[in-house]
Amino acid sequence: MRPFRYHRPTEVAEAVALLDAEPDAAYLAGGTNLVDLMKLGVQRPSLLVDVTRLPLDTVQTLPDGGIRIGANVRNSDLAAHPVVRRDYPVLARALLAAASGQLRNMATTGGNLLQRTRCAYFQDTSKACNKREPGTGCAARHGQNRDLAVLGWSEHCVATHPSDMAVALVALDAEVELHAPDGPRQIPLTELHREPGDRPEQETTLPRGALITAVRLPPSPVARRSSYHKARDRASFAFAAGSVAAALDLAGDVVRDVRLAYGAVAHRPWRAHRAEQTLRGRPFTPELAAHAADTELAAARPLEHNAFKVPLIRNLTVRALTELAGRP
Ligand code: SF4
Repeated sequence: MRPFRYHRPTEVAEAVALLDAEPDAAYLAGGTNLVDLMKLGVQRPSLLVDVTRLPLDTVQTLPDGGIRIGANVRNSDLAAHPVVRRDYPVLARALLAAASGQLRNMATTGGNLLQRTRCAYFQDTSKACNKREPGTGCAARHGQNRDLAVLGWSEHCVATHPSDMAVALVALDAEVELHAPDGPRQIPLTELHREPGDRPEQETTLPRGALITAVRLPPSPVARRSSYHKARDRASFAFAAGSVAAALDLAGDVVRDVRLAYGAVAHRPWRAHRAEQTLRGRPFTPELAAHAADTELAAARPLEHNAFKVPLIRNLTVRALTELAGRP
């Protein structure tokens, strides 16, 4: 591991200035991903700016009925928060499905959003990887790509985003507060993560040095009837083979409102707008749910080893929505 220096600021502006001043600096929060990557030699920061002492560790209810989640709120605390469990159950379920209790106790909201792909070639410094070393190629494109993308990929990178939490937050229309060197701002979470295109090393739209400070969730009546369905290769904790975040509001049997997002299928959490449009205003049936998923997945381009993800996501969509439709 490359030797590094370490700072632990207590103010956001100080943290941002430290990072902005050093090209190879990195923020450290829970460390559940970064420390592993440093041990593997994938990330080699010269300076770690530990953000865990910044005052970003509370969940606030907002006057409009939404909530503001500080970037340092631990995944375990967020999953157990009574307002999250009552008003945004899809978020609590995604967090609980994501990792063991030990990891949830360390992982933070901001760090979870910025975790790196678990593509095995990215983590192996002996393999070609455009994300780790731009211009070297993509060993996964024609390698073992079972776990990788079916939507939105490019010839330069077929990686997936690994977060469960981010899939739920995308379905909930979350906004991200960030503090950049030129000041604070707020962006929709759907605009945070990028598709790989020809620059897979650029995973987000965050300006250099920017720190995520909070995530805002708007009030969302539809979210009260919401759920997260995750398929994985083993019963104990594992990254998703595919996942669906769903929320459904029915007027009688007609779909009044719906939210759908897919995980483990693309370089970013995938909001399924086409599927939502197909469902809105129509009487709900499992057949309609399957048709809606098909409209979204028509854009899928499976790789050699992951064609199973298309029917998997379709089936998870039907199961999630049918279960929600049956709830009182
Ligand atoms: Fe690297 Fe992306 Fe290819 Fe994986 S899929 S080897 S992360 S370029």
